[in-house]
Parts: sequence; C-alpha cells; structure tokens
Amino acid sequence: AAKSDDSVSGRVRVAVRLRPRNDEELEADADFADCVELQPELKRLKLRKNNWDSDTYEFDEVLTEFSSQKRVYEVVAKPVVESVLDGYNGTVMAYGQTGTGKTHTLGRLGDEDTSARGIMVRAMEDILAEMTPGTDSISVSYLQIYMETIQDLLNPANNNIAIAEDPKTGDVSLPGASLVEVRDQQSFVELLRLGEAHRFAANTKLNTESSRSHAILMVHVKKSVLGDSPYENDNPYQSVNNFKPPVIRTGKLFLVDLAGSERIHKSGSEGHTLEEAKSINLSLSALGKCINALAENSAHVPVRDSKLTRLLRDSFGGSARTSLIVTIGPSPRHRAETASTILFGQRAMKV
Ligand code: ADP
Ligand code: MG
Repeated sequence: AAKSDDSVSGRVRVAVRLRPRNDEELEADADFADCVELQPELKRLKLRKNNWDSDTYEFDEVLTEFSSQKRVYEVVAKPVVESVLDGYNGTVMAYGQTGTGKTHTLGRLGDEDTSARGIMVRAMEDILAEMTPGTDSISVSYLQIYMETIQDLLNPANNNIAIAEDPKTGDVSLPGASLVEVRDQQSFVELLRLGEAHRFAANTKLNTESSRSHAILMVHVKKSVLGDSPYENDNPYQSVNNFKPPVIRTGKLFLVDLAGSERIHKSGSEGHTLEEAKSINLSLSALGKCINALAENSAHVPVRDSKLTRLLRDSFGGSARTSLIVTIGPSPRHRAETASTILFGQRAMKV
C-alpha cells in the first residue's frame, strides 16, 4: 500500500495550456484576436467577452503557446513523479476539447525530435533514473475506458477488465490487466507504441475515435530505501552496527488522457454517438463532482459514479498528489468550449 501521510497536501494543482494556432486558424481567424490573452507571470488568463471586455481567471500555472514540453513536464508532472518515488500515489490528467493538445502534452513520443517528448516519456525517464537494479522495479498497465468498459491496450484479448478494491486498505487494482515490467526507456516507448496501435485497432473495430475514450497509463513503482531505524537511540544494537532495515516504498502514478470534453450539442446525434456522448458526460461529470466534493471538504466523494473515478479513487485527496492540465485552443470560434474548459479548471482550483 502507498504510505499515507497528511503532511502531503491533496490539493489539486491546475495548469492551463494554450495550443498555438494551427495553419487553418492562422488563415481563417487572421482578422480576429485569440479568444484568450495570457499573463503567465501573473498566472492569469483573460477570456475575451467582446472587443473591450474580458473575464480574468487565476491558475496555479499558465502555460503559453511558447511553453516547451520540458517546461510543461517540470511544472505539471515532475512534483507528482517525485512524490510517487517517495511512495505516494499521484495523478496527472489532461482535460480539454478535442484538438487542443491533450495527447501532445501527455503522450507524444518525440521520435522525430526529443524536445517534443510528452509527459509519459519524461516521467519514465525520471523514474528509471532513480531505480536500483535488483531491488527496485517498475511495471505498467495501459488502458482505455470506452463506454464504461475498461480495455487492456497491452493485450486486446482483455477487453472487459474488472476493478478490484481491497476492502481493508481501499487500494484499487486491476487483476485482469497486463502488468508489464519496464527495464529501460527504449522498451517503454515500444510499449506505448504498441498500446497506441491496439487502441487504434480497437477503436476502428468499434467504429469510434480515440477522442471518445480515456487513455490511462498506470505506473507501479517499487523502491527500496534505507528506512529510519525503528530502534530507540539507547538501543545498543543500533550503536553497534548502525543497522537500518530497508523499507519498500510503493507508489502508483496515473497519467490520464481524458476523452474530449466537447459535448455533442447537435440534436442530430443518434445511436452510437449519443450513447458515447452520454458515457463521456457521465465520467467527466463524475470526475468534476469528485473534484468539487474534495474542494468542499465533503465527507462523501462520489467515486462510484463512473469507472474512471473508481479507478482513480486511491489517487484522489488524502496523501495523493494530483495535477490537472486543462488544454485550450486560441480560436475565437471555439470560445464557448474554451470557456467551459476554463470553468472546469477553476472548480478544480478550489481543491
Ligand atoms: P487532443 O489530444 O487534445 O485531441 P492533440 O494533442 O492531438 O489534441 O493536438 C492536436 C494537434 O495540435 C496535433 O497535431 C498536435 O501536434 C498539435 N498541438 C497540440 N498542442 C500543441 C503545442 N503546444 N504546440 C504545438 N503543436 C501542438
Ligand atoms: Mg488526443
């Protein structure tokens, strides 16, 4: 089990990241200003209401269209990775409209250009650097949640995985999911690539898009450290050999690329698509409710409302550390979606 210690704050840290204009937006929106204006040094974002007025919001971190992947990792994920190495659970989630940079931020492999590597690859690099061969180990599961079904992205045969909860400790596990040991960076990147390929194949078969499901990388870290001696100072054995028994620390890191937050407004949506939209709204609103319950210090955090929140339950609140990155685009045409993403991030700021 992860250590529990109230000295580590369970507060959710929230960063907003703006994607640069793409070619289409450079052209189509050439005569229009971005829908937001960032003041990164003040950690503020202004959302334009019209030409002369805007609403101002504060975030823990404001990442501009010029912020590098390295900086985003350091600000958003590194503190979480460090606390996982200390034996706590931690989560980094990306929330936002499809096309605003969630996968770029979390999952980019950076084959072509190492500076483009996203949080998953950078986190593993930092974790691997802290491992001692022989005693320490890292293993990963890679999952997709689609329509309230958990699929194994490392083994397509496991397409309906159940969540198990330890009734005593509250620890969440997935006994049916592949858990693959990671020994080096190269094999980890290959694992991510394999997971992506399986995700694409599964979604093609289901006739859906990856933006309609959540992708979750779960990293289990087991690390042996020299513990503080359990003996009192006047214990003669300690002064004789200065014995410090090793302590095993385990931490779990969740890296979560959430489904696109855009709602399907169109009344024309039907069948499959409508069911998908309902299930996305269910899990994202369950996530929002859990974050709100934590913000209000409510005794009841409604984790049971969706698979996503059940899976993340032991990473919510308490000793766990959570970073939320909300991704937005600059286009004035998507102002309403951008506003709704900003509000989700603002609610999380109160946690
Ligand atoms: P999402 O996963 O939210 O749907 P993506 O990560 O796929 O969005 O991003 C959409 C497109 O925008 C991709 O081509 C991606 O490379 C590009 N992109 C996103 N964020 C950035 C950024 N910060 N800098 C440069 N390109 C970006
Ligand atoms: Mg994506």
